[in-house]
Amino acid sequence: MDDLLNRTRAAVWHPCTQMKQLEAAPPLAIARGEGVWLIDTDERRYLDAISSWWVNLFGHCNPRINAAITDQLGKIEHVMLAGATHEPVVALSERLAALTGLGHAFYGSDGASATEIALKMSAHYWRNQGQPEKNGFVSLKNGYHGETVGALSVTDIPLFKSTYEPLLRHTVQVPTPDARLAEPGETAEAYALRCAGALEAHLAEHAATTAALIVEPLVQGAAGMAMYHPAYLARARELCDRYRVHLIADEIAVGFGRTGTMFACEQAPPLPLAGAGIKTVRPDFMCLSKGITGGYLPLSAVLTSDDVYAAFWGDATARGFLHSHSYTGNPLACSAALAVLDIFEHDNVIAANRVRAIEFTSLLAELAAHPRVRHFRHLGMIWAFEVADATPGFSARLHRAALAQGVFIRPIGGTVYAMPPYVTSADEMRALADALLVCLADPEI
Ligand SMILES: *Cc1c(COP(=O)(O)O)cnc(C)c1O
Repeated sequence: MDDLLNRTRAAVWHPCTQMKQLEAAPPLAIARGEGVWLIDTDERRYLDAISSWWVNLFGHCNPRINAAITDQLGKIEHVMLAGATHEPVVALSERLAALTGLGHAFYGSDGASATEIALKMSAHYWRNQGQPEKNGFVSLKNGYHGETVGALSVTDIPLFKSTYEPLLRHTVQVPTPDARLAEPGETAEAYALRCAGALEAHLAEHAATTAALIVEPLVQGAAGMAMYHPAYLARARELCDRYRVHLIADEIAVGFGRTGTMFACEQAPPLPLAGAGIKTVRPDFMCLSKGITGGYLPLSAVLTSDDVYAAFWGDATARGFLHSHSYTGNPLACSAALAVLDIFEHDNVIAANRVRAIEFTSLLAELAAHPRVRHFRHLGMIWAFEVADATPGFSARLHRAALAQGVFIRPIGGTVYAMPPYVTSADEMRALADALLVCLADPEI
């Protein structure tokens, strides 16, 4: 174990980490995984309460996903997707189209690349329509869309962004509908609609130079699991239509059942203006990653409408979308994604999670009522709260204290959240609640 830690300190540059802090707080040396459990090189077990950075859905070493990848390994591991195609990428594209109503799937390898693809496609769309001046982007205050240069331009988390500001393109942030920011007595819905008013004011003035609005539907994850009312999405869709601006739904974190529906956009209520038969908000672009492979392999997809796709069709090569990544549509990753969709269907996961979530919320009741806890909130398979008296260093202290209780959890500032795999049992959730209660009982944390 110590040997592995020394080697990791010497050779691995860890993400999102000031490496000097690894001296005092070494990373967990994980040897293997089993369901919701991470097992270290000393055979200690830790409950993976945040699904390994929100990617895991059905546990570690899931036999069904393992089998699908193993089966694909015997056929072909990878072939470039320009000039070739294969069954897993075709089948996955068909199934994602059937689930979202967005019939064309472009693939990348991780979330940030999906954001880049959506931004480039949107601006290129307007160029192909003879409106190259429509190339600006609007995003929400406190939003997060990844950390490559283009994605960071629409991200609004100062800790990740400020240092790189000189490298970034100017974009505009409009008020976030984060329900915690409502005035006393104002409902989440009323506040969401007030924020939509600010979006409208911006679009009314700048639509001619705006390509797209990009949002995290219903939950701004990196902002600290900020949740907002679905009326915002419905109104944003209406405004984007009215002002001819694309709506990019970044479902990288919330897609694949995390908010209680397969995709968060499905929860936006139908608008009187939406027309008969339209039940959900359909974005022009939907970015997917994280849970798409059940947390197995890097894969992202950008799904687009027929209208977007049609704008790239033509005889001129440069009218096409000439973007590529070496591992685009990797067959092993696609086979994992297909296994994930099979599990959703076969186990009726969305319905089962609805029951599971009610039980889990009741298991967390004591935490919700804890004197140090504020803004306890829940949506689908996400639970979050703020610790009122959190002082600097709280996140690292709680992380360490929870490890001692057998729980792997990483608060965002003073926000503690659980985002457990969908195979978590009631006993495991009770263990998580008990561990957090022990941590909060310590006034030093
Ligand atoms: C994680 C995340 C991204 C970036 O995905 P990476 O795979 O980390 O590049 C983008 N948007 C949202 C909403 C995310 O949660």
